[in-house]
Amino acid sequence: MNRKITDIFREKEKTFSLEFFPPKTPKGVEQLYRTADELNKLGPDFVSVTYGAGGSTRGATMEICAEIQKRFDIAVMHHLTCVGHSRSELKAILDQAKANNIRNILSLRGDPPKGVEIWEPAPDGFEYCYQLNDFIRDNYGDFFSVGVAGFPEGHIHCPDKATDTKHLKIKIEHGGEFIITQLFFDNTVYSEYLERLKNEGVQVRVIPGILPITSYEGLLKFCNTCGATVTQEVHDIFKLLSGDEQATAEAGIDFAVRQCKDLLDRGAPGLHFFTLNKTEPVREIWKRLGIK
Ligand SMILES: Cc1cc2nc3c(=O)[nH]c(=O)nc-3n(C[C@H](O)[C@H](O)[C@H](O)COP(=O)(O)OP(=O)(O)OC[C@H]3O[C@@H](n4cnc5c(N)ncnc54)[C@H](O)[C@@H]3O)c2cc1C
Repeated sequence: MNRKITDIFREKEKTFSLEFFPPKTPKGVEQLYRTADELNKLGPDFVSVTYGAGGSTRGATMEICAEIQKRFDIAVMHHLTCVGHSRSELKAILDQAKANNIRNILSLRGDPPKGVEIWEPAPDGFEYCYQLNDFIRDNYGDFFSVGVAGFPEGHIHCPDKATDTKHLKIKIEHGGEFIITQLFFDNTVYSEYLERLKNEGVQVRVIPGILPITSYEGLLKFCNTCGATVTQEVHDIFKLLSGDEQATAEAGIDFAVRQCKDLLDRGAPGLHFFTLNKTEPVREIWKRLGIK
């Protein structure tokens, strides 16, 4: 199925979607297709595939998007970053996405490669995501649905939330059609974010990104890089379970179910799950939420 996410929005008030990352080995990729097959039985509205910070998995994003679309007849979204890419390289990737009839792009600036502190655009590349949005619109009209990333707590390198909101508004004015958020664990942060966006006149869907916690140490490491707050409640629950995989996974499912129910009650227009390429947590959360 080669549907645009914005067309799906026209039919559904809430969407439930899954995010995968490209494994590094062919064996890992085959395992991912088995995971996607299992999770596809839940009936997700779309799936997305992340784009590596650099190196070997970048081409794999296209291959996996095309294959998932073909095998499972589901709408896919290709993440794309500006990291290390000139305009002509970005054009070649987008041309290939178009040739594969992939209709959805999550447009991102990306982060500096490992070991590099300061963000620098590539020669003849883009400095900010909104410029990539413009590039997509200028070259492909409305062929692609374009999503952008949102940061309910503010982007780690943005001085304050008000400035972050203004930057997000610019991304939307430059062609972003919906927002998928960074993970967060305190739902009041999401509600306050919606309020800020509403006050700025941003009207697109803001789909919360949900991480089912499966490792306390992994979570601390990730949140340290992306700037998301690990709440006291999360520390209290997961620190004690650290090292016990089974107990952490079960508590992660319980936590996510509570968080998701509350988000849906607050009017969230769906949920986007960071699956970490695992089947079980999302399958169980989906079942307990009664998502049809
Ligand atoms: C749902 C989701 C999926 C992601 N997927 C990936 C992925 O697949 N691959 C990957 O490498 N990374 C991914 N990321 C991480 C993302 O690339 C980083 O967080 C990156 O640092 C910011 O990207 P952005 O597109 O939000 O950048 P931008 O919106 O360009 O913002 C980057 C910084 O510049 C500032 N800024 C933005 N616009 C302006 C402006 N007009 N003027 C001045 N300053 C401005 C912002 O405040 C921010 O501090 C994802 C993030 C999320 C939330």
